[in-house]
Amino acid sequence: MARYTGPVCRLCRREGEKLFLKGKRCFTEKCAIERRAFPPGQHGGGRRRRRQSEYAVQLREKQKVKRIYGLAEKQFRSLFKKASRVPGVTGENLLVALESRLDNIVYRLGFAPSRKAARQLIRHRHVRVEGATVDVPSYSVGPGAEVSMAPKARKLPVVIEAIEDRRSRDQLSWLGVDYDAASGRMLERPSRSDIPLAVEEQLIVELYSK
Ligand code: SF4
Repeated sequence: MARYTGPVCRLCRREGEKLFLKGKRCFTEKCAIERRAFPPGQHGGGRRRRRQSEYAVQLREKQKVKRIYGLAEKQFRSLFKKASRVPGVTGENLLVALESRLDNIVYRLGFAPSRKAARQLIRHRHVRVEGATVDVPSYSVGPGAEVSMAPKARKLPVVIEAIEDRRSRDQLSWLGVDYDAASGRMLERPSRSDIPLAVEEQLIVELYSK
């Protein structure tokens, strides 16, 4: 399936919760979930929630995680396969692999307002890993590797605004960041409890194991 390019707020409304896909707007009253917390579409407002089948619940959880990280089905499934080959709990391995993606790290460090914006900055060659330009959003960042914004990128309004916005919020314990230098690193691989994501990843494992 191709990448979804339509209005992202529809995705949150479909899942019935905030997926934080739009940066700053997600924290304001303009958020579509605050204003229209019912599924999108002509009958969304009047649609009664039916009891969901086990399969539907698993599918929705998978779609939710896929949408949060902005992955297409093929990429997501391939990451899942890799996660299932690594020792440990597959669901947890999957989340750690998603969190280690360069686009996620740039977003989590606070250099971009959303993962989507982070992907664009990476593709436009504004991001460096250990001093070298990396233009692949799926690049897997390892513990200790320095992720920084190129000097020109530090002057981009989108980066300046994102950093200003993030300065006032707490940083995750497994990330270290120097906002003035627009540089940071993953201090250690996160464990499940370090990942602020209200999802039941076991449901995804069950879905893909069918
Ligand atoms: Fe989702 Fe953010 Fe849009 Fe709210 S503003 S519906 S959280 S993408």
